[in-house]
Formats: sequence, C-alpha cells, structure tokens
Amino acid sequence: MLDTLRRIIQEVTGARDLDQALDVIVTRVKKAMDVDVCSVYMVDREHRQHVLMATDGLNAKAVGMVRMKDNAGLISLVGTREEPVNLADAPGHPQYLYFPESGEEQFHSFLGVPIIHHRQLQGVLVVQRHAKKKFSEDSVTFLVTIAAQLAGAIAHAEASGGISGLTKESKNRKRNVAPLQGQPGSPGVAIGTAVARFQIADLDSIPDRAVEDTRAEVTLFKKAVNGVRKDIQSMLSRMNEILPTEDRALFDAYLLMLEGSAITGDVVKRIKNGNWAPGALRETIAEHLRAFDAMEDTYLRERGEDVRDLGRRILSRLISDEPQTPKKYPLRTILVGEEITASMLAEVPVKRLAGVISVRGSSTSHVAILARAMGVSAVMGIEDLPVSRVDGHKIIVDGYTGRVYVDPPRGVREEFRHLLREEEELSRELHELRDLPAVTPDNIGIPLYVNSGLLADVSPSRRSGAEGIGLYRTEFPFMVRDRFPGEEEQFKIYRQVLKSFSPAPVTLRTLDVGGDKALPYFPIEEDNPFLGWRGIRISLDHPEIFLVQLRAMLRASAGLGNMNLLLPMISSVAEVDDALRLLRRAYHELIDSGVSISMPRVGVMIEVPSAVYQVRELARRVNFLSVGTNDLTQYLLAVDRNNARVASLYDALHPAVIRALQQIVDGARAEKTPVSVCGEMAGDPAAAILLLGMGIDNLSMSAANLPRVKWVIRSFTRRRARSLLKEALTFEYAHSVRNFLNAALEDAGLGGLVRAGR
Ligand code: PEP
Ligand code: MG
Repeated sequence: MLDTLRRIIQEVTGARDLDQALDVIVTRVKKAMDVDVCSVYMVDREHRQHVLMATDGLNAKAVGMVRMKDNAGLISLVGTREEPVNLADAPGHPQYLYFPESGEEQFHSFLGVPIIHHRQLQGVLVVQRHAKKKFSEDSVTFLVTIAAQLAGAIAHAEASGGISGLTKESKNRKRNVAPLQGQPGSPGVAIGTAVARFQIADLDSIPDRAVEDTRAEVTLFKKAVNGVRKDIQSMLSRMNEILPTEDRALFDAYLLMLEGSAITGDVVKRIKNGNWAPGALRETIAEHLRAFDAMEDTYLRERGEDVRDLGRRILSRLISDEPQTPKKYPLRTILVGEEITASMLAEVPVKRLAGVISVRGSSTSHVAILARAMGVSAVMGIEDLPVSRVDGHKIIVDGYTGRVYVDPPRGVREEFRHLLREEEELSRELHELRDLPAVTPDNIGIPLYVNSGLLADVSPSRRSGAEGIGLYRTEFPFMVRDRFPGEEEQFKIYRQVLKSFSPAPVTLRTLDVGGDKALPYFPIEEDNPFLGWRGIRISLDHPEIFLVQLRAMLRASAGLGNMNLLLPMISSVAEVDDALRLLRRAYHELIDSGVSISMPRVGVMIEVPSAVYQVRELARRVNFLSVGTNDLTQYLLAVDRNNARVASLYDALHPAVIRALQQIVDGARAEKTPVSVCGEMAGDPAAAILLLGMGIDNLSMSAANLPRVKWVIRSFTRRRARSLLKEALTFEYAHSVRNFLNAALEDAGLGGLVRAGR
C-alpha cells in the first residue's frame, strides 16, 4: 500500500496542471482501491460551490456540470465536518442530492474525505461502489492518508496550471489569481519580470522559456542528441572489451531510446509549440517518467531512471552551449529559483534587480539578509511555486506578507502600483528623518543600530542614519569561504567594520554557526540542529577556533575603543564563565606580546528560555544584554523559525514572548545592566512601541527598517508607550496585540507604516 501511495503522489507531483493531476488521482485511486467510482470535487470559492472536476466511473460529461452549493449535498457534509463520511446507502441519506447527468443512482456506498491544505478546504475525494455496504476501516484510512498527502501536490498543480503556458490555448485559459504564500524575506513590494535560475545538473529545475526561431532550436536539439549518441557509442565500444553482452544491454537500450521517435519526437513537438529545447526536454522526460512510475513491474519501473539519465545527458549537451545567465536582465528583474544563492544575486546588475523569490530558505537565509541589505524585496520558502513555468512572466513580490502573484490581473497590478507609490512617498518622508536623532517627544534617546554581517551592508547601514552596528554576525564572512578564515583574514574584516563606524559602537558577535547556519567546510549532521551543537557551544568545544577569533577581534579594536563583544546562544552561566576565561586569556596574551588594547564591553544574547529565567545571574557577569527575539520566539513557542509549514504560528507579538521580554528588562534593570533587542522584532514599528514602553535601552535592526522605527520613537512618549504596553499585556492573542498596536500607529498619524507593513 505504501508503494502504491508513493507512486500516486509522485505522479500527481509531476503533473503539468490541475486537470492532469486530478485525472491521475481518480484513475489510480479507483484501481488501487478496487472501487466502481472515484471522483474529485473542488471548492469554487467565488461561487461558494463544490464542482465535480474529475471522475473515473461517473459520466464524464458531468465534469464541470455537477455543481452544488457549499451547504447542500453529501459533498458539502464532508466539507463542513472536515472528516470522512462513510455510508452504506448514500441515496437514502437526507442530505443526498441527485444529479441525473452523473449517472450516480446505481452506486450505493459512498466514502468522502476532505482535501485540506494549510487549514483550508480545497475539495473532497470520493469513492463509490454499487454494493450497499459501508467501506472498511482500511479503506477509510487509505483514502484519508492519500487525501492528506495530495493536498500539497494539488496546490502545486493548481499554481502550475494557473500560470499561462507558452501555447496559445493555455494563454487563453482562465487564470488563477490567488497569490502563492511564502515567508517574508525582505520588506518591500516589487513588480517585475521573472528570470528563473537553475542548477545545470538538475533537469527538474529547468524553466520553460519561449523561443521565436523554433527551427533553429530543433536543430540545436538534434545536434545535442547526435552528440549523446556518439558518447554512448564510444562508451559501448570501450565496454565491449570488459562487459559481457547482457550487461551491455543498458547501452543498447539507451541507443534504442534515442533512435525511436518517442522521446525525441515528443521534444521536437514541444519545441514547435514554442518552448526552448531544455524546457521541452524536461517536460517530455517528466511525462515518460510518469509512465514508467505507473508500471506494476518493479524492474520496468526502475528503467525510468535510465530515461532520466538520458535526459540529463542530452541536457548537459544542450546547456553547455547555452549561456547560464541571460545576456540582458530585464529592467525590473525578479530572480526566481529553487534555491537562489548569494552569487546568483550578485550576477544581476544592481539597478535591474527588483526582487528575489526562493522556493527554499527563510528570512534568516544568507540571501534574504543580503536582499535586505540591498533594499530588494524578497519572499522565501514558497513551496507551491512552480519555478519551471514562470520564466519571463510578470510577477509581483510582496516582501511584507510573503505573497507572490504570477501574471497578476490588472486589478491586482493597479493595487500594487498604488502601494508602491505610497511606499515611495513614505520613504521620502522617512528620508527627511535621516539626520534627526531617535529621541522621543519626552526627550528619551533610544539609539538605533543596524544588524550587519557582510561588508556589503556597511554603506546602506550608514546611509540609513544608524548610530552604530548593534549586531555584526561574524558567521557570514565564515560562510562565504571554503575553510575557516585565519587570524589575519579575520583581523582585516573586523578592522574594516570597526573603522567604518568609529567612533560609533560596533557589536561583534562571536561565531554562531550550527542550527540552520552551516559552514560548507564544517558539516554538522544532526537530527535536531536547533537544539544541537550551535553558537557558543561550538566555540567552547573548539578553543583553537574561538581563541583565533577573539584575538583577531581584540587586535582589530586597537586604538579604536568602539568594540563590543557579544556571546550567542548562552543557555547557562557556566558558558559565560568559560567564554570570559578564554577572552581574558586572549587579552593577556596579546598585552604580554606588546599589543596595546583595552578590554571590550562584553554582552550576552538572551535568546534561550533558560537565559530568561537566569537573566539576573547573567546580567551580573557582563556589561550588557542583547535579546535575540528570532531565536527566543522560536524556542518559547517551539516553532522552527525556518519551517514554512508552521510559519503562521511564529509571532514575536505572542503574549508569552512579550511577557518574557518584560521579565528580561526587569531583571536587567535590577542589576543595572543595559539591555537591547537585536532580533527582527526590533525593526517592526508596532513592536517598537512595546519595547519603548518596557524601557529597552537601544534597538538594532536591518537598515531598511531603521527609518520606520525612528519615526515611531519620535512620535511616542515613553509614558504613552508604557500605557499601551500595559494594555497590550492584557491580551490573550498575538493578533489582538497586533491590531491594538496598529490602531495606536494610525491614531498617532503613522498609518503609512501599517499599510506598508501589512
Ligand atoms: C536572534 O536570534 O534574534 C538573533 C539576532 O540572532 P540570529 O538571527 O543570527 O540567530
Ligand atoms: Mg539567534
């Protein structure tokens, strides 16, 4: 059963569009369960109806015709109850609705299960039999299992089909205007043209791309096929001497596949329909793989791998002549890919780059941080985006909400153009604040710093009007190398950062790798990386690495006196004691060798729940505390900060997080230790009101958010912020806190921040 399930899911995942996906589902499920009918009804939200979208067993003409209100019929009963309905005699049920065109009257038993994706009902999967007998428990669990897994695949197929293809008919098809949901990666809205990037070795990531000269493209393809044929023939002649005849059959099979018209003929057909050769090849290979996958015979099924291998060989021949990057990027390029890397981003001329969309990754991925530093909007972790179908299409990236619209209709485009104009207006207003201090109307100064981690960040940081760097993530210079940087190399980087802001303060954080931040040359394989070997734990276990970093930092600070040092992922006081011991050792060794330096101010990050409860003990040992709300939220709420599936549960305005913050501030104040916030929360204008009310001493955020937060600081007295905080602490839900703070921003005349940051 597991095998059947896996194959059905694979086939559906590879489907070109929703129609194909649904057809696969109904035929395969009907066969696997040995039933008389299998059908899928989908929700039509616009008309609040359930529509029969595919069937194997009912009258095919009824597809698209059978529609029922979402409060009538057995289908809606499944939908509203959101659980299986298993009946021996459906026509005898009071809620049964009869549609003569379906030919349904002959079937008695009925089993319907809901198809739910991200908590939303997408449709209902139904099986029926002639016999008047309930379905077995096994049948129910099978159908429930398959519906649960199909939900994501259906959403993906729906998104694929919603994007107009390269042929005329598909361009005329009704388009799906629902946005795709990912995670906000970098704030801002961008409207532009998608440029899909792909890995050469990965056939599945090849995008569709329109070609004008289809004849030339066919010639290119045939040349590539000939090249592969020659490769295989020469392999074959080499193997002749070593392998027995039967083992050489594989190569013969390859040649047969190339000679026969099935694969090559299909590719040529697709090229003639307007797709470039690599895209036509991807689609053809995927179709053939589906056929192999559906085979009962395991041996034959595994031959599908040979088809894939052949596809890859033709592709590498095709692509080796093809430039990887477009000759000319469109004016407003939106870079799209399964995994966009920092180097892909760097290839686009800065003026042409408008947005970034990556199927994998999160707001803390390297590329998202780089996008924020460059002021380019980004959406990450957008699982349902069919990358292969969007190249050259118009795309809207909403970096505030994590939404992406492909081929948006005019109304949506207008709405976003309006938003862009509002944003431009807002940034003009904010620009005027650049040189004004971050002081409340009752004259309390809250220094605003930037988070940084790349030298590329430094100039936008300065332009934003920041008063220093509140968090320099040293892991980034470690990530972009192929080995641990040596003391000299590190010294140069830290020196440059410290000097660029001197005399303003710069907080260098010691290495915080592990969790989701891996070093390519220091792989850590763990089942639970966020609860594993990360941050200070690695530094203390490897004093040889930690001491090099500390020495480089101390030497870099010589004569400048603006360096603060921050320790990440502290979960016990012993870790602080040990780190301070190593710091003192590095300091004294340098002093003994004649280097003239002073001991930096040292801080501890509060980002683990245990640190909240020992905040006073920690505060006593150091000069300042800095709250890492990204991790603190993750650990308090038990929500992986990178997991798109639980992203809606991740909210720094959760009442538990706010109370923890209040406890941290109270503890720090009792020890007279200053406390700052350097997680993303510090850059959220609504949250900034609460932090001001709590008495946080300074805030550190990405450069793009700094002017917004400055506006908040300059608009709210601490007194007012305190009373808003008091009320916010009485709420039980994160969304109530958000609504309440948004209303306060509107009241203060800062509605622009609410609208832009929807
Ligand atoms: C945090 O956890 O809030 C933080 C600032 O550190 P990082 O995002 O680098 O884990
Ligand atoms: Mg952290």
